[in-house]
Amino acid sequence: MSIADIEIKKFENGNCEEDKVFYQAMEEVIYSIAPLLESDDKYKKNAILERLVVPDRIFKFKVTWLDDDNNIQVNTGYRVQFNNALGPYKGGLRFHPSVNEGILKFLGFEQILKNALTGLPIGGAKGGSDFDPKGKSDFEVMKFCSAFMTELHKYIGPRVDIPAGDIGVGAREIGYLFGEYKKVTSSYEGVLTGKPFMFGGSLMRPEATGYGAVYFTETMLDMEGKESLEGKICTVSGAGNVALHAIEKLQQIGAIPVTCSDSKGTIHDSRGVDLDLLKELKLEKRVSLEEYVKVHPEARYIPVSEYPEDGHAVWDIPCYAAFPCATQNELNGFDAQNLIANGCISVTEGANMPSTPKAVNDFLSHKICFAPAKAANAGGVAVSEFEMSQNAAMARWSFDKVDERLKTTMQQICKRVALTAKDYGVEGNYVDGANIAGFKKVADAMIAEGI
Ligand code: NDP
Repeated sequence: MSIADIEIKKFENGNCEEDKVFYQAMEEVIYSIAPLLESDDKYKKNAILERLVVPDRIFKFKVTWLDDDNNIQVNTGYRVQFNNALGPYKGGLRFHPSVNEGILKFLGFEQILKNALTGLPIGGAKGGSDFDPKGKSDFEVMKFCSAFMTELHKYIGPRVDIPAGDIGVGAREIGYLFGEYKKVTSSYEGVLTGKPFMFGGSLMRPEATGYGAVYFTETMLDMEGKESLEGKICTVSGAGNVALHAIEKLQQIGAIPVTCSDSKGTIHDSRGVDLDLLKELKLEKRVSLEEYVKVHPEARYIPVSEYPEDGHAVWDIPCYAAFPCATQNELNGFDAQNLIANGCISVTEGANMPSTPKAVNDFLSHKICFAPAKAANAGGVAVSEFEMSQNAAMARWSFDKVDERLKTTMQQICKRVALTAKDYGVEGNYVDGANIAGFKKVADAMIAEGI
């Protein structure tokens, strides 16, 4: 039995259905770091794994609010404060009906290593609610956010825990959450990131994750001796914050993104997607992608129901580089085989853990350049940390300054990950490189801080 199998066995007992994605994320990390555990017994002696996979604390609370018909609605809110060895807890809030403790543990665990990879002083956390903002009026979203913050404010603070956005939580929700925090605490402080610019948000925070994923990919392709993205067909999934800004940056550098998707279907526009229209549909009108083909009848809309259950239409479209930017486990083994057969040479995870373990193995065994989420989508949290710095100094950075720092940060993460992989004998494997580099940083801090 390998050292990784022995370690994984220790955690099997708590493995319930809800925790499935959490164990998926944990197993990947344990397999990756096996060479590190073998090379230095201090991690075992200090029980780092046992300590790292258990959150410092989890808050679970009731959120009651009044809908527009004056009916009382009840949701559940959570905050998982996972690890603060490197800095205050930091990680997004997700509002989506699928949210439960297991999903937030998976996201919080990934966040610890992601934040460590940025080289910035931030720990890992995640939170959210099973509230679904879709189909709710602005007033309902506001009332929910106020009720959520009435409870959450007890556990957060600019030196304690600084939440941000994630699925279902954008600038509108962060604005309402900030307003309520201010009201209940009477203090005006940088307790949330992703705020609108007019009250302390950083320029470029909305763009950061998508832009950062493209910067990472360009650096990776250059390091691996591949042709750049310029002039190349790219496929992107999702049509939210990360996807739209990945598409935007791809267009800016001369690549041709031809797809996007939402939970109902996929758009394939072979001339390149119309980003202005997408922003109008998704950010302003908040409607289905089906509306896209009403303006561009030459594009194709593929409803989820019209594609085989085994896979996802967006990964069946030939491309040079793919960018899964929607949600976890949205790209499986079937999809990976389609991408590989169609000549894709690079996959960058804009979403958190969008590729299943089978898909990741297929990419690695076919020598596809594969950029794992915790490295490739770290641009969002990096700019969040820049927002914290600006708030603390009462300063405003220009768009160009933030963009330059984001680009440098993504290039540094990419190089750090590639070098770590080389040092541990797995050159070209960015999954192992990211896991080892992130784990080592957090683990060494935990050892230095004692139990
Ligand atoms: P948004 O809520 O802005 O967008 C999510 C998008 O994904 C929507 O278009 C949604 O479609 C689509 N989607 C959700 N589920 C599915 C599905 N099963 N199949 C196809 N499409 C789906 O979220 P973000 O863009 O902020 O987040 C996307 C991913 O990126 C998440 O994994 C998040 O954790 C990760 N991430 C986000 C960061 C950020 O800065 N926002 C930072 C780092 C990671 P629909 O509208 O129909 O639900």
